[in-house]
Amino acid sequence: MARKIGSRYTAHQVLGRGSAGTVWLGEGPEGPVAIKLLREDLASDEELVGRFVQERTALLGLEHPHVVAVRDLVVDGNDLALVMDLVRGTDLRTRLERERRLAPAAAVAIAADVAEGLAAAHAAGVVHRDVKPENVLLDMQGPLGPAGSHRALLTDFGVAKLIDTPRRSRATKIIGTPDYLAPEIVEGLPPRAAVDIYALATVLYELLAGFTPFGGGHPGAVLRRHVTETVVPLPGIPEELWQLLVQCLAKAPASRLRASELAARLREQLPTLDGIGPLDVDEPDAEQEPGTEEPADAAGATGPARCSSAVPAEAGGPARRGAVPLVPGAKPDSNRDTHTSMRVPAADELAGGARGTARAPRAAGAPRPGSARHRAATRRRRLTLAAAATVLAAAAGAGAWWATSGDDSGGTPPEHRQTAPAAP
Ligand code: ADP
Repeated sequence: MARKIGSRYTAHQVLGRGSAGTVWLGEGPEGPVAIKLLREDLASDEELVGRFVQERTALLGLEHPHVVAVRDLVVDGNDLALVMDLVRGTDLRTRLERERRLAPAAAVAIAADVAEGLAAAHAAGVVHRDVKPENVLLDMQGPLGPAGSHRALLTDFGVAKLIDTPRRSRATKIIGTPDYLAPEIVEGLPPRAAVDIYALATVLYELLAGFTPFGGGHPGAVLRRHVTETVVPLPGIPEELWQLLVQCLAKAPASRLRASELAARLREQLPTLDGIGPLDVDEPDAEQEPGTEEPADAAGATGPARCSSAVPAEAGGPARRGAVPLVPGAKPDSNRDTHTSMRVPAADELAGGARGTARAPRAAGAPRPGSARHRAATRRRRLTLAAAATVLAAAAGAGAWWATSGDDSGGTPPEHRQTAPAAP
């Protein structure tokens, strides 16, 4: 169903849904475009609309081969839309879900592209604040880069900042996606360029390992790991690449590389990675989400949910990452969604987790990714997450990442998102 957006654009078909709205394949005076229609609650927020208009120049000004350009901003009745260049391909999350792990050269080529996009943005004084695979688009129509990789472009620039109005995010609130949040944000410091470097290093680790270094389980537990835990080495990773990752995942923002340095160092390493296949990394111990626990007597030493890390046990039960609450009263949900309603944990809450090592590789006996047992566990986890998040959204009315369900797009679930198909 076609939908008019302002006087110049028509939205034809939903390409995907994100945390801030729905992205449509559309048509403008100059040809096909991607139109991001912001969620109704955002579009009806006068203060936010004012900020979008105010930031128009910054939003429209970022032109770089590794940044998805914003071409226009439409404020029309209840609609608030960003008109962007259309990228024909897919997003990095979709590719990662399909391939589970990328070969080091492919992963590094993508990370180098994104680092270059970030370098341009940082030079213009813009911090992205929500770097994650969902916000990296792969152009499948253009020429292939090194390692046969598609050009990667970072999207959603400045959107996190604009949504982060004082009302939405007082000093005690966090905006971002838990898996990719730099420790200084968790500790309540203002986000500077180094937060993007930390998030990009997390993405690179995820491309290589198939999981993020500190993710899994309750969002509160994830936040705590960013602050207190050290990253687990990946078996078989070339030493130089590992050192680069460790440096960019440093807890101290000043220790991380700048985006331009990171891009250069990644490109330097590319030739040495040629021909290396995806790393043979087992998933960390299966995470156990609240509500999916096996009966206490079934969680024995051979059970798939045993947690090998030093996270303290909850009263009356075994230590389980997925069940460690940091934000009292918070419910579990997907760590990959941009959160607009998390609060900064207090110092004593952060100190509650023993200093330890991030997720250890999968223990013998745990379900192998892709196995029937693993799939069953994942299905159980998804169902629980969906149910818990629905309850949360309904109860609090603040589940910002769920609010897109109210539009008439009949849209695509996030795991099936697809950017515009490559033109024939
Ligand atoms: P998120 O909020 O999760 O980052 P977005 O709202 O930015 O997601 O985008 C949702 C999906 O829409 C993307 O994952 C992608 O599939 C598609 N998409 C976003 N921007 C574009 C674009 N410029 N061209 C083509 N597809 C896009």
